[in-house]
Amino acid sequence: MPNLSLSTASHDRARLLIPGGVNSPARAFGGVGGKPIVVSRGEGAYLHDVDGNRYIDFCGSWGPLILGHCHPRVVAAVEQALKNGVTFGAPTELESELAELVIRAVPSIEKVRFVSSGTEAAMSAIRLARGFTGRDKIIKFAGCYHGHTDSMLVQAGSSATTLGVPSSPGVPDGCTRDTIVVEFNDLDAVQAAFGANAAQIAAVILEPVVGNMGTVQPREGFLTGLRELTQKNGSVLIFDEVITGFRVAYGGAQEYFGIKPDLTVLGKIIGGGLPVGAFGGRAEIMDKLMPVGPVFQAGTLSGNPLAMASGQATLRELKDHSPYDRLERLTTRLARGLHEAVHEAGIPHMVPHLASMFTLFFNSAPVTNYSEAKRSNTELFAKFFWRMIERGVYLPCSQYEAAFVSAAHTDTDIDRTIAAARDALAKI
Ligand code: PMP
Repeated sequence: MPNLSLSTASHDRARLLIPGGVNSPARAFGGVGGKPIVVSRGEGAYLHDVDGNRYIDFCGSWGPLILGHCHPRVVAAVEQALKNGVTFGAPTELESELAELVIRAVPSIEKVRFVSSGTEAAMSAIRLARGFTGRDKIIKFAGCYHGHTDSMLVQAGSSATTLGVPSSPGVPDGCTRDTIVVEFNDLDAVQAAFGANAAQIAAVILEPVVGNMGTVQPREGFLTGLRELTQKNGSVLIFDEVITGFRVAYGGAQEYFGIKPDLTVLGKIIGGGLPVGAFGGRAEIMDKLMPVGPVFQAGTLSGNPLAMASGQATLRELKDHSPYDRLERLTTRLARGLHEAVHEAGIPHMVPHLASMFTLFFNSAPVTNYSEAKRSNTELFAKFFWRMIERGVYLPCSQYEAAFVSAAHTDTDIDRTIAAARDALAKI
């Protein structure tokens, strides 16, 4: 095990000051046990911790860092913006420039509004869909995450067509009463929910490729089916592309699969690592937002100049030097290498991957929804995670999170990761 004494001391101090020592629970290592590694800096494909250990990073800050850490173009853009003033609470040209990049890239977006997080973006898109349709109910899928807004902190009720119940204390029943939870990839369940709630469904929201139960892909026909059902029922189809936007393709999952939602939620990559979210879609819907329309939505730091500059630099780099083919090649090679290593160790597993997203599920059957994901061997994952840490590889610290390859990773990083996995599993 690498020396983690300074990390441990730092986390112990943080725990006295911040609940659990973290500002977001996903980074607390709850899914793997032990204490989180405290980071000092990032550099390309690598993370450095406060003890001086270096890791190949496949977390990428949970998705934003498709260019890796400290890409020179992003650093330069943020430095420039910093010198011009960090916030004005008044319009800047940076906002329209990033908006134009997003609208040109994402097939279904005609107008876009920027916010400061994915949570805010999803919350606003849901309000807008409700305001636009004049309906209250939302269909979401078990295991898809749309941020921590009250109406989305919900688990399935006793049957697929009953209403959701809160998944966290502090969320009143009233906030989740209008959220219907169904299994991902189950078109029949969606149809049944529409049938049981005729003319009441404002929107269907989903991650078109799920990152938040590990990487789970839509079945053939699932997205098309949702498009048809929402159209037929006068409901808004919302793709939450906070992870998949500019990740699975420059134009996101909607470009990859050729399906146009009505609204799209974005985050992560569009901020290049600074706090940004966005939601956009058909102009007819977007123009229901204040100040053009009646649906309220606002933010003091929305469209923040530093974040706009960082996002612009990231999108321009992705456009000018498209990494997508190379990312797919590296990820496929890594997934195959991991598969061979785990196979040799005789351990049941699946390694789904799409573009630069992948997950090593310790699961004997393909994972197509949340119930199946939950059958994975999380104890084995925790062991594997720590053995990879020992060998200088930093994976997302939960079985139920997608891992990401960045443009900063090289073939050598992939080889080292496969070798580390083989070594880690030999002794498991
Ligand atoms: N939607 C999806 C698909 C996400 O993965 C996340 C965050 N992981 C969010 C929304 C919420 O974004 P944020 O953490 O920026 O609030």
